[in-house]
Amino acid sequence: MKKIGILTSGGDSPGMNTAIRAVTKMAMNYNCEMYGIKRGYKGMLNDEIFKLNPLDVSGIADRGGTILLSARLPEFKQPEVRAKAAANLKRHGIEGLVVIGGDGSYRGADLLFREHGIKVVGIPGTIDNDIAGTDYTIGYDTTLNIILDAVSRIRDTANSHERTYLLEVMGRDCGDLALYSAMAGGANGVLIPEVNRSIDELAEDIKERRSQRKLSDIIIVAEGVGHVFDIAKELKEKINTEIRVTVLGHIQRGGSPTAFDRVLATRMGARAFELLMEGESGIMVGMENNKMVTHAISYAWENKTNISLDDYNLTHLLSI
Ligand code: ATP
Repeated sequence: MKKIGILTSGGDSPGMNTAIRAVTKMAMNYNCEMYGIKRGYKGMLNDEIFKLNPLDVSGIADRGGTILLSARLPEFKQPEVRAKAAANLKRHGIEGLVVIGGDGSYRGADLLFREHGIKVVGIPGTIDNDIAGTDYTIGYDTTLNIILDAVSRIRDTANSHERTYLLEVMGRDCGDLALYSAMAGGANGVLIPEVNRSIDELAEDIKERRSQRKLSDIIIVAEGVGHVFDIAKELKEKINTEIRVTVLGHIQRGGSPTAFDRVLATRMGARAFELLMEGESGIMVGMENNKMVTHAISYAWENKTNISLDDYNLTHLLSI
C-alpha cells in the first residue's frame, strides 16, 4: 500500500493529534504517502484531501483538538454520498484509511470497506471511554484529570461556605468519567447512568455525613443521568444545605493531552499503520490489560462497555 488517508470524526478529544503524528511518521519511515482529510467524512465528500508533510505533524503531539478538524455528516448514511466520497479517495490513489473517532465513525468506515474496498482501521478517539474493545479511549485520561482539578478547586469553596455542590461531567451514556473522578477526587456521592440510585438514597447519605459533622459535599453527576438542575431541585427539598450546580461543559475536552493519552495515541497510531501494511481491514485497535489488541470494527457497536460495580461500590463506601 503506497497511499493512506487519515481523518478525525465525531467529537474531538485530546490526543487525536498525537495519533495523527504517530501514523504519519510511521508512514514516512515506510515511504508511504499520507493524506490528511479535513472535517471527517464531510471533507472526504468535498474533496478536502491533501498530502500530509513532515512539517504538518511536527510539534503537534502535545496539542489538544485535531489539526484535521472534525465534523459530523449525517448524510454519510446514504450509499450515494459514500460512493462520491470513496470516488474522491480513489482519485487520489488512496487505498487505506485510518479513522480516529467513535463507533458512529467506525460504521461509516466499515461501509467504505464493504461497498468500495477501501481498507480501514479504526482508532478509538473520544473522551467518553464508551467504545467496546479497548479499556481506554484516547482523550479519556486527559478529561479525567481536568475534572479532578475542578473537583479540588470546587472543594475549597464548598468547604468554606458549607455547601453541597453538584458537578455535572461529560460521558454521555457512560459513567466512567463520573465514577473515576469521584473515586480519585474523594467525592461524597456519584450518580451514573449504569446504576439506578434514587435522590432519596443520596439524601440519606448526605444526612449521614451531617451526623458526622461533615457540612459540605461534592456530588459528581454524569450527564447521562438526567438534568442536573432538576436533580439539584429535588435534592434541595430533602437536605438542609445550600446547593450549587457546576456544569463543566467543554472545558473538559480542551487542553494538552496527558502523558498517558499521548503514549496510548502513539501506540494505537503506530499499530493502525502496521495493520494496514499487513493488509488488514475492517478492524479497530484497542488496549486491553495493557496490551495492544484488535477487534472487528463492528465489535464497537455490537458490544457495550461495562462499568465496574466493585469500583462503584468502593467509591460509594468511601464517600460518606
Ligand atoms: P463521538 O463518540 O465523539 O460522538 P462518533 O464517531 O460516534 O464520535 P457520530 O456523530 O456518531 O460520532 O459519527 C460521526 C460521523 O460518522 C457521522 O457524522 C457520520 O458522518 C458517520 N456515521 C455515523 N453513523 C453512521 C452510519 N450508521 N453509517 C454511515 N456513517 C455513519
